[in-house]
Amino acid sequence: MNELALRAEIIATAVRMNERRINSGRSGNVSARTETGFLITPTGLPYESMQPEDIVAVTFAGAATGPRAPSSEWRFHRDIYVDRPDAGAIVHAHSSFATTLACLGRGIPAFHYMIAIAGGKDIRCAPYATFGTQELSDGALVALSGRRACLLANHGMIAVSVSLDAALALAIEVEALAEQYWRSLQIGEPNLLSDAEMDVVLEKFRSYGQRER
Ligand SMILES: [Zn+2]
Repeated sequence: MNELALRAEIIATAVRMNERRINSGRSGNVSARTETGFLITPTGLPYESMQPEDIVAVTFAGAATGPRAPSSEWRFHRDIYVDRPDAGAIVHAHSSFATTLACLGRGIPAFHYMIAIAGGKDIRCAPYATFGTQELSDGALVALSGRRACLLANHGMIAVSVSLDAALALAIEVEALAEQYWRSLQIGEPNLLSDAEMDVVLEKFRSYGQRER
């Protein structure tokens, strides 16, 4: 995909993120890897009025070029691309149910086998740190270790995948799981799947051939 098409796809993904109600307003952000760094939504512009030239190119060293400033959250996008060769695109959203759990400092345990879609036996919640800081980024990387998604305490969620479509689909799935877990907690304590069962599920997900791709 050429860079202009990728810029347009980032905008389309950001618009769809709000249409699918996993984000509202301008609080989330979307990025995709390039050869020299990544492209990311700018700070402060409504997604609907963004033009391809508004998308900001940032190098792996963190240098931004273009007329707009990158999202204030560019740092964790950069650190994820540097740390994770498997990361092709990142969706960050303040989705309601994932954020609700994150405000309690709660991740999502193996209450449903689909938790494996995020790559492991749970979805962790990174500790709170001020948005845009290195501390937030460092915590997110730890929470994402061996995973494709995490929650951010008192903030939101991150979904990492090979493509923009896959990252958005994962973010939607994580939000659905967060809602189901939240609803389960309203009427009791959900039965959690065992480690052994989650090993079976994770192996099945692997052998189905990277269903996200
Ligand atoms: Zn945020």
